[in-house]
Amino acid sequence: MEKRSTLDPEDWGKFRQDAHRMLDDIIDYVEHIRERPVWRPIPEEARAQFGEPLPEGAASLESVHEIFMRAVLPYAAGNVHPGFMGWVHGGGTPVGMLADMLAAGMNANLGGRDQMPIEVEKQVLKWVRALFGFPETASGLFVTGTSMANYIALLVARTARFGSRVRTEGVGEAHLAAYASSSAHGSIAQSFDLAGMGMDMLRIVPVNERFEMDLDALEAMVVEDKKAGVQPFFVAGTAGTVNTGAVDDLDGIADCAKRHGLWFHVDGALGALGMLSPDVAQRLSGIERADSIAFDFHKWGQVPYDAGFILVKNGELHFRTFESNQSYLRRESRALAAGSPWPCDFGPDLSRGFRALKTWFTIKVFGSKKLGEAISGTCEVANYLERRINQEDRLELLAPVSLNIVCFRYRCDESDRVNAEIVARLQESGIAAPSTTTLNGMLAIRAAIVNHRTRIEDIDAFVEAALQIGNALTRDEHGQ
Ligand SMILES: *Cc1c(COP(=O)(O)O)cnc(C)c1O
Repeated sequence: MEKRSTLDPEDWGKFRQDAHRMLDDIIDYVEHIRERPVWRPIPEEARAQFGEPLPEGAASLESVHEIFMRAVLPYAAGNVHPGFMGWVHGGGTPVGMLADMLAAGMNANLGGRDQMPIEVEKQVLKWVRALFGFPETASGLFVTGTSMANYIALLVARTARFGSRVRTEGVGEAHLAAYASSSAHGSIAQSFDLAGMGMDMLRIVPVNERFEMDLDALEAMVVEDKKAGVQPFFVAGTAGTVNTGAVDDLDGIADCAKRHGLWFHVDGALGALGMLSPDVAQRLSGIERADSIAFDFHKWGQVPYDAGFILVKNGELHFRTFESNQSYLRRESRALAAGSPWPCDFGPDLSRGFRALKTWFTIKVFGSKKLGEAISGTCEVANYLERRINQEDRLELLAPVSLNIVCFRYRCDESDRVNAEIVARLQESGIAAPSTTTLNGMLAIRAAIVNHRTRIEDIDAFVEAALQIGNALTRDEHGQ
């Protein structure tokens, strides 16, 4: 019988050569990222490259890599670049990149079974438990991101209120209410939508002038709901809001949750890993009292996408929310089917990639101290930007700088239009890529300093360019 052809290389020597070339190219990309524009518009021919019909024939690895180099790599969003300040994107590291390559080679499926990759994930869980002061009985799981982690937290909270029968019977006629601030991330409300509980269940608590949840308003809303026969059951505080980086008074929310028997969830997507930095950690006081914490290693943790995490204080409740007894997932006490419970007993994903490896490598190689310093560093750079804005008459800060997010505007008539135009031109210039948000009805230029590579000089270039564009757009107004 003829040797069956596989998808492995026929010529391993040539493959190895190509592989080294690919590795060098991507290392070059990261090493020299400063020489590139942050972002550039995608030319039509690059887009058109991805309109081809399904290829029937083979192509050499080399030729496909060449397309990648020419038509994909130059047109990234730019979050590896130090000038990227839009939304909340992590910068990644070359270490995380290599670990992800190793993970892909192992092709591990972390749904379950007795394999060492799951021990790596459990090691990260142990570190995370210690970091947040959670007990050994706390459970945790890598997920895509905090959007998924928030959703899982809500489902566990539902089990806490109704027991596992909620999984078969639903919540029936129960009149429930949950609470998050008007600065909370949209994925909190989306969780209620996904769970079929309806987004109206989530009450929106107003914020104070620092964009933190107004705790008197929270208390009043809970009391009023109870009076009206509605059962309050869940409150989400935010450690680092997506708009301004505000940190809710987590201790205050924990007190309210305790008084009224609510599940206390913390959306710490951006800010929870601030626990690694002593100066930020004190701002997060109360996070240890949470019933669940959702956060992202791919933001402040600088782990390459994607690496979200859900941590639940009561591991038993977490397990009861997702355990299943499918015959094809039967557990044994020995051999490969041992090691129960499995990660798939703690979330909706069965097949799961090895996100733990790039996270474990990142933590091992840099250590918690250096990662914490990278986090403090982004806050220092944000504080520098704040000072620069305060020194410029034409610029105005629009929100207090709490962590690493700075919101401001160029002062002028038609402020919203001009500031949106400044942001678009900045992005197109390739110098810096902030994004926008709306604060108190006003459009703000929003710079989230998440990337460990961003330095003072990047801020100077950003501010100079913003001023220049703003001045050019308002020449008449300012009589230049
Ligand atoms: C980014 C973010 C989310 C969503 O996290 P993903 O990882 O993008 O799913 C949720 N909440 C806050 C506060 C965020 O900053």
